[in-house]
Amino acid sequence: MRQQPHLVSGLIDACRAAIAANADYLCELDRMIGDGDHGTNMRRGCEAVYADREALALLPVAEALERAGRILVASIGGAAGPLYGTLLIEIGRQSAADPEADDFAAVLKNAIDAVARRGRSEAGCKTLLDVLYPVQTEVARHTAYAAIALEAERAAAATVAMKALRGRAKFLGDRSIGHIDPGASSCALLTGAICAVLKEQHPV
Ligand SMILES: [Mg+2]
Repeated sequence: MRQQPHLVSGLIDACRAAIAANADYLCELDRMIGDGDHGTNMRRGCEAVYADREALALLPVAEALERAGRILVASIGGAAGPLYGTLLIEIGRQSAADPEADDFAAVLKNAIDAVARRGRSEAGCKTLLDVLYPVQTEVARHTAYAAIALEAERAAAATVAMKALRGRAKFLGDRSIGHIDPGASSCALLTGAICAVLKEQHPV
């Protein structure tokens, strides 16, 4: 992963803004099928990363991702912290191990698989994986950023029809059907924010 000017700062700002603007909405989604704290937790995580932004911006992207992932694990808490944290840590670790690798789709696939192992989950269980895997598929197809963001939104919306098989919502059984998964929703919001930054830096 090559260093881009202001890439890390731009990503931090965009993700923080997307979560801040939607924190109440994410809490509302979580109240339907969970304990109502997903927006609060995600906002705390983004604020913790933002507080470290000056140090993060000085690092190579791979190291910044790994460090940001550790901050998310420590600050978000709940189930989402280790999952989002694992995603960033794994992307960072793989990129650092092979800085010349230009197959980001493969790196992303490995990182998502690590998230799935961490959550002892898989696609179809009504989690953020139901957004991450479709996004990875589009990344592998070299889909334009705006279209990747739309796919993330579509994938999050598709969790409405799913029955939760992991996380707190699984205890609701069939009653989890009919609601968007909060983790899938935050993942789509973050994907949109990230795609907007990348589109600006690498117009396609
Ligand atoms: Mg919760």
